[in-house]
Amino acid sequence: MSKRVVLIGHPVSHSLSGAMQQAAFDAVGIDAKYELWDRAPMALPDAIAEVRREDFLGANVTIPHKERVVPLIDKMTEEAQATGAVNTLTREGRRLVGHNTDVPGFVIALDKLVGRQKMPRAAVVLGAGGGSRAVTYGLIRAGFQRIIVFNRHLHRAEGLVKHFARSASHMELKAMPWHESIIESELAKTKVLINATSIGLNADVSPVPAEVLTGDLLVLDLIYNRTRLLRDAESAGAVAMDGETMLLHQGAAAFALWTGQAAPLEVMSEALAGARAEGVRSAEGEPAGDETAGDAAAVVA
Ligand code: NDP
Repeated sequence: MSKRVVLIGHPVSHSLSGAMQQAAFDAVGIDAKYELWDRAPMALPDAIAEVRREDFLGANVTIPHKERVVPLIDKMTEEAQATGAVNTLTREGRRLVGHNTDVPGFVIALDKLVGRQKMPRAAVVLGAGGGSRAVTYGLIRAGFQRIIVFNRHLHRAEGLVKHFARSASHMELKAMPWHESIIESELAKTKVLINATSIGLNADVSPVPAEVLTGDLLVLDLIYNRTRLLRDAESAGAVAMDGETMLLHQGAAAFALWTGQAAPLEVMSEALAGARAEGVRSAEGEPAGDETAGDAAAVVA
């Protein structure tokens, strides 16, 4: 019987994950189809109930359901519990297990960013949404001793800090208000800068002025493009990486969970590049463009 894996989100129409996962199943010879299910929040319980059936290997869950799905499933891994967000489901009989593969995806990207250097101990994180939660937990797990989270709406960053109070009890995790001068002064004490906001997704704008970027920074933008932030960082002599590595490795981790097989990374990477060449700019379920960031284009979701 042909197996099924679904991506449940709202919206999901143009999905980089779809191209990447279907190419992986085909390459490894697994008879499975990756389907896109656009489900509004009201329809989520029925969708989750359907995934319990035998013909499903599992699912991906994306915006806006990553947190909403938690009460609908039976078990969560440590990463899912710690972040309070689930992006991958596997089946154990009729029971559903929630995973967060954004965390290992981020940790692999961080390792590549750092390269042969010693793993730094201090980071500035911009943003406090779902991506930022995976990043923050990944940094805590990677042994960082000081993480400063800046967010436009400070209360959300404070909520994130509170959420990780236990995991971060041995180190300094702080929320700070989004002021250029404070960001600049924190960057001066920091080696790693992560952009986990959507600033730069739909418009050529950067979350920070170019002048605050220095040559010894390691900069990771979760967005899958060569954003203005990354270009400014490179001009300053910093090491810069976009979000594709994280996207690829969260997908590879999900593939391995569903199939029990190692993911064909090269095939997945090529499929991602192909989908991007066709104009798919976002993963899936990405929020609509933010007017305040000056976004003009309609968002590919
Ligand atoms: P959320 O919607 O949960 O969070 C969006 C974040 O961006 C919030 O911190 C929000 O701040 C901030 N933001 C948006 N617009 C502005 C603005 N104009 N000024 C200041 N802050 C702003 O999204 P996610 O966390 O899920 O995703 C964030 C980004 O990370 C997206 O671009 C997404 O594509 C990317 N991502 C990439 C992944 C990968 O695998 N590479 C994985 C996950 C995410 P506020 O709270 O104040 O509104």
